[in-house]
Amino acid sequence: MRVIIIGGGTGGMCLAHGLKRAGVDVVVYERYGSRRDGLYGYRVGIDPTGNRALKECLPPELFDTFVATCARGPRYFNVLTESMHATASIPLRDDSDEVNSERSVSRSTLRQVLFTGMEDVIHFGKEYTHYTQHENGTVTAHFSDGTSDNGNVLIAADGTRSAVREQLLPHAQIKDAGITSIATKTPLTPETRALLTDEMLSGINLLFATKGLIGMVHVMEFKWDAAGNPKNPADAKLLDSWSGLQFDNTRDYINLSIWSSHDHFPENIIEQRGSELIATALEITRNWHPNLRRIFELADPEAAFPLRISTSVPVEPWKTTNITLLGDAIHTMTPGQGVGANTALRDAALLCRELVAADRGEKSVLTALSDYEAVMLPYGFARVADSLNNNGTSGDDPLYSRSTGRLALFGARTYFSLTSKIPAMRRKFLDDLYTYRGAEDLA
Ligand SMILES: Cc1cc2nc3c(=O)[nH]c(=O)nc-3n(C[C@H](O)[C@H](O)[C@H](O)COP(=O)(O)OP(=O)(O)OC[C@H]3O[C@@H](n4cnc5c(N)ncnc54)[C@H](O)[C@@H]3O)c2cc1C
Repeated sequence: MRVIIIGGGTGGMCLAHGLKRAGVDVVVYERYGSRRDGLYGYRVGIDPTGNRALKECLPPELFDTFVATCARGPRYFNVLTESMHATASIPLRDDSDEVNSERSVSRSTLRQVLFTGMEDVIHFGKEYTHYTQHENGTVTAHFSDGTSDNGNVLIAADGTRSAVREQLLPHAQIKDAGITSIATKTPLTPETRALLTDEMLSGINLLFATKGLIGMVHVMEFKWDAAGNPKNPADAKLLDSWSGLQFDNTRDYINLSIWSSHDHFPENIIEQRGSELIATALEITRNWHPNLRRIFELADPEAAFPLRISTSVPVEPWKTTNITLLGDAIHTMTPGQGVGANTALRDAALLCRELVAADRGEKSVLTALSDYEAVMLPYGFARVADSLNNNGTSGDDPLYSRSTGRLALFGARTYFSLTSKIPAMRRKFLDDLYTYRGAEDLA
């Protein structure tokens, strides 16, 4: 069996590792020209679901490298006002378990981990355009440079704007979630560190602000210093032997993002870049604590970007062929629950098991893909719905309504304040959080 994967992102590369390890013939085509390209600098939270999938698919030493290259894990879930008043500060569980824990990883670093050891599998600078299915059960992928490749199975791992999905499921819809976001990255220095409290420095920080604005602060501290040398000699051996560090220039940083419904931003926000975009962030947050605004002022203008958040409309099961989809290509979701990448990884591990079974002749390719789709579609679109209903990542959220916004803000802050203070509520909050972020897919 020969498997062609379109897209060398989170899900596609995890699947490629799993198939390669199992001895399945696999090839990945990625449109970016090299392993350094693309804007991948910000944080992604990898939860037990994601850890488990990576552990299952990556070679053991590469999984260890993934763990070693994560930033220090979050210790608190903090909720704050725009004045940096702590509404809630909920200690998270110990993160020493390599699978059952929440990790913070930089996208660019995770990408470099996933490219490691895959030089013979991934082809960069190959933009997929369309496919042709043949009566003998094979499929041809075509590329914009006029070349093509044949395989038995084609996997769409090409993200939200998937060209494979457009051809296979032309009725599947990607929808604007009604949310605009500005994401910034500020180097972590003694000056910027002093702007945040200790809890904020070591936590996930959600800011419920007045005027229908939400913010998020993550502090990313890695095991290497500004010169790229290991901070702790014990890490030197592992990091020295990891070729990915030559390509990854990630350094400690603060990731400050804000989001709200579109009407809170200038009409041309998506065209804004650099200092113009930072100025917009400062204008929108003019009633925020001076320390938070200072973080915007010190942000790297080149790394700031605006984003329109998308979601997807559930798709009814279709007649299975030798082409299937994973991750954002089928179930793009808002970042409301922070599980898009984790769900892409879950898909990758599940699909890998099915394809390996087909390769070993335990089931036919079509049965394997149909079994995958039957499991993936329900949990994937359940995650899409949950994500849309959480943390104000839908433009319809009451937080953004002129009539109910204040009441909704009061309700959110009160809920988190009580959760932080009442042990039974805190326990339930943590149980729900950890079940959602990992235990559910074991069932
Ligand atoms: C602001 C924000 C914050 C987020 N935070 C989190 C978080 O904390 N935790 C979490 O789990 N998820 C998070 N997510 C979601 C997560 O980033 C995505 O769900 C995840 O990256 C999807 O992985 P994927 O492999 O499906 O697609 P991607 O990682 O997007 O990979 C798709 C790949 O396909 C390539 N490609 C596209 N078209 C073509 C083509 N025609 N030919 C060849 N190659 C092509 C692209 O270049 C890319 O490399 C967040 C998303 C956003 C927007």
